[in-house]
Amino acid sequence: MAAAATNGAAPVVEKIYVSYNDVHSAIQKVYTDKIQPWKPDLLIAIGTGGYLPARIVRAFAKKLENATLPIQCVGLSLYEDIGGGQFGIIGQNVVKTQWFKDVGGDSDSVNLLGKRVMIVDEIDDTRTTLGFAVGELEKNVAAQRVAFEKEHQGEPVPETVIGIFVVHNKLKKKAVALPSKIMDDSYFSGEDIEDKWIVYAWDAVDIEEHQALCDAQNARRKQGAVNGGA
Ligand code: 5GP
Repeated sequence: MAAAATNGAAPVVEKIYVSYNDVHSAIQKVYTDKIQPWKPDLLIAIGTGGYLPARIVRAFAKKLENATLPIQCVGLSLYEDIGGGQFGIIGQNVVKTQWFKDVGGDSDSVNLLGKRVMIVDEIDDTRTTLGFAVGELEKNVAAQRVAFEKEHQGEPVPETVIGIFVVHNKLKKKAVALPSKIMDDSYFSGEDIEDKWIVYAWDAVDIEEHQALCDAQNARRKQGAVNGGA
């Protein structure tokens, strides 16, 4: 992540402040341009950052397409909480704290076969979490395919297509590569963004202060664009 130069002191992490409206607008645009044409029929929200974006995608699907998109929430954790108001450090492994019931075929298990399944998170940083989520989902799909083949011998197994939506994708070298079939036509980001620490509105305590920081930053950017374009 980009850090400002210091004179021997701890590096200052540069931040980008993002408002609720920024997130809403980014999702609205990518929903119309990319997500709606992709036609997801199940969202997997990675908690906790993916919950609100998934809920907003669901609202657009309802209001614009009159479609009801189910959301399954999963819990994956990469950054460890080191307390003291500091940023978390990158963990070596993704910890799976919550997943949906994928086996059993009963009413509370989630059928993935024949579905277009879209994983939703707020940010793609090192891509480790998304890589893990795709791997777990592929294992679920493989198990369901085996069960289907046993029960429906000779019948073709309904295809599952996996997609990804993130509100922000950091432009940086990624630690993990996603399958090219996903990257080629099923990976969508609301915005590709510099490798800085993104501060989301939902992490703020004082929302007025957060909004003021967003406004000041946007004004500086606008001014920079005007000056740069002069
Ligand atoms: P990954 O490195 O696996 O792509 O990202 C792991 C998780 O770290 C993300 O889901 C997100 O919760 C958190 N994260 C990474 N970069 C940022 C950032 O710039 N801002 C915030 N708020 N969270 C981040």
